[in-house]
Amino acid sequence: MTECSEQQRVACAIGGAYTVLAIERALPILHSGPGCLQNSGGVLGRFNGGQSGVSYPDSIIPSTNFCDKDVVFGAEDRLRRLVKKCLEYYRADMFFLVAGCGSEIVGDDIEEVAAEFAGGPVPVLYARLPGFKGNNLWGHAQVLNVLIDQYLKHLPRAEVKPGRVNVLGVVPYFDSFWMATLEELEKMLRALGLDPNVIYGRGKGVEALKKIPEAAFNLVLSPWTDLDTAEKLQDVFGTPYFHYPCLPIGPTETAKFVRALAAYAALDQKKAEDYIREGEDRYYFYVKNAVKVYSGGAQTPKRFFINSSAAQALSLTRFLVNDWGMTPLKIFITDDVPEVHKERITGELRAVESADALNFDIRFTRDGGLCDVEIGKEAFTFRKACLFGTCWDQLTANNRQLPFVPVSAPYGDAMIGDTTYLGYNGALVFIRDLYRDMTQKVLGSGIVARLEDAAGH
Ligand code: SF4
Repeated sequence: MTECSEQQRVACAIGGAYTVLAIERALPILHSGPGCLQNSGGVLGRFNGGQSGVSYPDSIIPSTNFCDKDVVFGAEDRLRRLVKKCLEYYRADMFFLVAGCGSEIVGDDIEEVAAEFAGGPVPVLYARLPGFKGNNLWGHAQVLNVLIDQYLKHLPRAEVKPGRVNVLGVVPYFDSFWMATLEELEKMLRALGLDPNVIYGRGKGVEALKKIPEAAFNLVLSPWTDLDTAEKLQDVFGTPYFHYPCLPIGPTETAKFVRALAAYAALDQKKAEDYIREGEDRYYFYVKNAVKVYSGGAQTPKRFFINSSAAQALSLTRFLVNDWGMTPLKIFITDDVPEVHKERITGELRAVESADALNFDIRFTRDGGLCDVEIGKEAFTFRKACLFGTCWDQLTANNRQLPFVPVSAPYGDAMIGDTTYLGYNGALVFIRDLYRDMTQKVLGSGIVARLEDAAGH
């Protein structure tokens, strides 16, 4: 073994059930061990910013509670009885049977169980998500595959609606800020003259799912997640897709994204430029104010480390370098990016307005603790560098007195609420969060214990 994994930053495949939980009134029914969803919840649920299911709390999801006896004899019949009871007691628009490791090893036929409920008042789908097959991002992709294969393909053929666009790329729950990000994105796309279709979150649900085949195009906003789904939707429904590699944060990337999208979708150029101008006006008004304070006592360290998912690393790096004049030192990407995407993502990370773009390290690793080890090799104490990552990295930041903002799962045992770092406003929120942490450390009201260290650097 050449690499020792520590600090869980992805869940196992059964965490794909959280993608079902993100669809309003879609209920997963687990055919797995009693603690399986709880395990994923450590990264995706409560400890990722105090999140739970959109319609059903993740702590009460029905499960067959697969146990040791079932590993010998199976528990198909118990699953059958559970589905019957769920149909009776839950008011859901869709049921989704989810098999974990135990039931997959013993070979329970969840397809057959789901088939017994076909043609009923509510769709009953199934997905095999054993943890030995992959992580929660793999599980997420399987859930979307299932929605296409077992549900969307069987709907009557839909007319394509001009301007309709499905929003893909944001992985619900794994992206700690997904809810507010999607809300904000929806507003942005509407302002540009599009008709966005988001399937996750408040007021969406199965009705939004049904609209997927009507889209004029799919928008994938991520370095790699959901690209496979967009390709599949292209094969199945002939829907083309527009891939933009990151969620834009700040004026440079937001303007770049808006112009690229406007060119792709032949949008009204004036609307696009008006959107950019208004966003920039507001952003720079507040930034000018912030800069007066920043240039006083608590200056932002110019260098930073990131230990996060590829999506957050790319969005943040572009913002911090292009708009905030900072320089990355090392970037650790911990969400097990498939080999085929690594070179392209490395190129996207280096495509920033910095003379040092070729000098910083980019590491794809499953070992979340590696960042701490690397930081420990150099004397990065207060005002020398910032750190952006997960709640695990908060420990490193506290120990080394580095300004810190959590940006990736697991975010920590705090309420995210409607926070997002997307666009112009999101960039201001990020600056606010960074400044808050810096000032707490300067004043000793946070976790800096050794003020003499802060004063000395
Ligand atoms: S790895 Fe398997 S047994 Fe463990 S939590 Fe995931 S699905 Fe359950």
